[in-house]
Amino acid sequence: MLIVKKFGGTSVANKERIFNVAKRCIRDYEKGHDVVVVLSAMGKYTDELIDKAKDINPNPPKREMDMLFTIGEQMSVSLMAMAMAELGVRAISLNAFQVAMKTTSAYGNARLKKIDTERIRRELEDRKIVIVTGFQGVNKYNDYTTLGRGGSDTTAVALAAALHADACEIYTDVDGVYTADPRLVPTARKLKAITYDEMLDLATLGAGVLHNRSVEMAKKYGVRLVVRSSLNESEGTVVKEVVKKVERMIISGVALDRNADRISVIGIQDVPGSAFKLFNTLAKKNINVDIIIQSVGREGTKDISFTVSHENLKEAIDVLEEYQEVLGFERVEYNCDVAKLSIVGAGMMSNPGVAAKMFECLYNQNVNINMIATSEIRITVLVSTKDAVKAMNAVHDAFGLSEE
Ligand code: ADP
Ligand code: ASP
Ligand code: MG
Repeated sequence: MLIVKKFGGTSVANKERIFNVAKRCIRDYEKGHDVVVVLSAMGKYTDELIDKAKDINPNPPKREMDMLFTIGEQMSVSLMAMAMAELGVRAISLNAFQVAMKTTSAYGNARLKKIDTERIRRELEDRKIVIVTGFQGVNKYNDYTTLGRGGSDTTAVALAAALHADACEIYTDVDGVYTADPRLVPTARKLKAITYDEMLDLATLGAGVLHNRSVEMAKKYGVRLVVRSSLNESEGTVVKEVVKKVERMIISGVALDRNADRISVIGIQDVPGSAFKLFNTLAKKNINVDIIIQSVGREGTKDISFTVSHENLKEAIDVLEEYQEVLGFERVEYNCDVAKLSIVGAGMMSNPGVAAKMFECLYNQNVNINMIATSEIRITVLVSTKDAVKAMNAVHDAFGLSEE
């Protein structure tokens, strides 16, 4: 068997944990399996690198940020190879250059395009454990890129797909995927299994346990993922195509995204093309928008509000102000004191009244809803930050997701 095992920051945060991971990998290796290990930077090292950069320049060039980021993962993989050597096992660390993991050129938010598996295969044939840096890639200019925060999960899934691995295991600091972030919702329950689509929505809407692109890629290439803890032997959660109806809830999970901000464009002309011009201007700057609402026009103008992630807020405001005349609006306002609360579940499609139940629950908690967005399998509301965790817990319990 060829197994890809990915370990996140907490799992390699110190010497003891590095040896713990090394031993876990060696166990599979000694059973005769081929083992490829993907690692994140140790502990909160990536955050520390951001602090160091911002201390020098509050708006550091993105290319240089990626150059800096890559040392975090490189530190983990080399130390891991040393730990394995210390335990008497042949291992080799490789970075994105050495493997040749090609990405698009967008610094800080690159997408993997092609992974050369030749070097990894050669090292595996030589009976070595291969330890690869997560999160990083190389673009067409031979520069380092990174895949976005949490991107090591995506490196692991991409490697599993490229190597046709028999298993892809994501080890983290919780026992698996829960009905909600167990750090925010103490009554959250661990799921045995979840579908790609539901996991993709949860991940995109704020459940940081998996990088959303890793789920997208797993679905595309049919990589069966297991999310489990590096600190115990508990079984974890399987992410796959279909989950049996038995024991299925209408809602499989609740997610909170506290990183969302709301922008309102006030007094934009109420003519054909105004929404197109507005969102096209943002798209050209690579700014993703989520929930959008537009007011009914009055006296020839209307208001359009939407959410962006906090990292994009400043750039979005700047570009809107730059194009104010072309876009023809009165003023732009923003609010950072908001959070996106979502419920996700395939059962929604066949069960009317799910939205009403969520709104009733928020009403009972006296929580005001600022914006609403829905799809077939999710409902998202924008609420104020101060209400967010209370609302999350209430909604989680209202849908019967808590542990009995
Ligand atoms: P790693 O460094 O291993 O990649 P992350 O911090 O990226 O770990 O992801 C694990 C964290 O995700 C957990 O500690 C937990 O707080 C958070 N999380 C958010 N939503 C969920 C969820 N639905 N189930 C489990 N964990 C979740
Ligand atoms: N070290 C990177 C981060 O903190 C990548 C990852 O952990 O997946 O975002
Ligand atoms: Mg992560």
